[in-house]
Amino acid sequence: MEIKGSRLKNASRRKFLQQLALWGGGSVLAGGAVLSALHYEHKKKGAPHIKEIAEHKHQLKLNKEALTELQRRGREGIPGKRWVWVIDLAKCKNARRCMTACQQAHHLRPEQSHMNVLVMQASEHTPAYYMPKPCQHCDNPPCVSVCPVDATFKRQDGVVLIDNQRCIGCRFCIAACPYNARMFNWIEPLYAKEDANMEYNVELNLPQRKGTITKCLMSADRLREGKLPYCVSACPNGVYWFGDENEDVVTNGTTHETMRLSELLEKNGAYQLMPELGTKPRVYYLPPKDRSMPVKESDKKVASEYVHHFES
Ligand code: SF4
Ligand code: SF4
Repeated sequence: MEIKGSRLKNASRRKFLQQLALWGGGSVLAGGAVLSALHYEHKKKGAPHIKEIAEHKHQLKLNKEALTELQRRGREGIPGKRWVWVIDLAKCKNARRCMTACQQAHHLRPEQSHMNVLVMQASEHTPAYYMPKPCQHCDNPPCVSVCPVDATFKRQDGVVLIDNQRCIGCRFCIAACPYNARMFNWIEPLYAKEDANMEYNVELNLPQRKGTITKCLMSADRLREGKLPYCVSACPNGVYWFGDENEDVVTNGTTHETMRLSELLEKNGAYQLMPELGTKPRVYYLPPKDRSMPVKESDKKVASEYVHHFES
């Protein structure tokens, strides 16, 4: 049976999901994020892959000719670019304008956030700080590795996206992501009626679709227009730098100051989240030293509860 357009027929889809459940659960439990990240390299080289299973292997391959222009363009990305993000934790005051701008652009429910501003505290006697956390757009993405239908993919410019017309809602990618960056649309999206006639745009992931994944898209639609991501432009406190690793240049979304990426990272002791997993994130963090505003007392309580949670 063939995929018509981008959807599997119901009977086939059920059978297919049953097989995937048997195979996928074992894979995720046994392998976890690290194995999945390692497997991504294997997948890129076109080696025999876990996707090609059982009698349904012909359903799993991407038929590029069935893609719309927006889907095709969205998969290719912007040639010559390698987008990179630098997040300065010393500057974050928990204004959350990044979260609001992102929610508005992607028609998310108030409880859904592609960008999460967390209150962090490493241990009892270390200071609390705010940490914005988007998808890390890993260069070795375990989420892509486990997706059985190529619904989530890595582009040449570094962005990891989702094609929700192809997503079958198996949620393997949620289990595989070590950064908790993906969410599932359990209920109808906020603007389901308003967006019903909109042509699906992979770079905006609009219209959102019940039963599929949503996550940070690095504002791929804005990058195509030569603009900074929604969150980066919305921040009033200079937290976000964004730019092109190939050019070694990043721009601050608030001040519009431009710097050499390498210099910014070197001078400020930049680091990445869980690099030991081999996921190769495209997001760098500058440590929360000399903070421009301390964490609010009420938020410190949340942070200390977090410490105790890990100690217990
Ligand atoms: S952070 Fe993003 S790219 Fe990395 S594994 Fe999670 S969803 Fe995939
Ligand atoms: S939920 Fe969708 S994007 Fe995630 S692994 Fe399954 S098919 Fe792929």
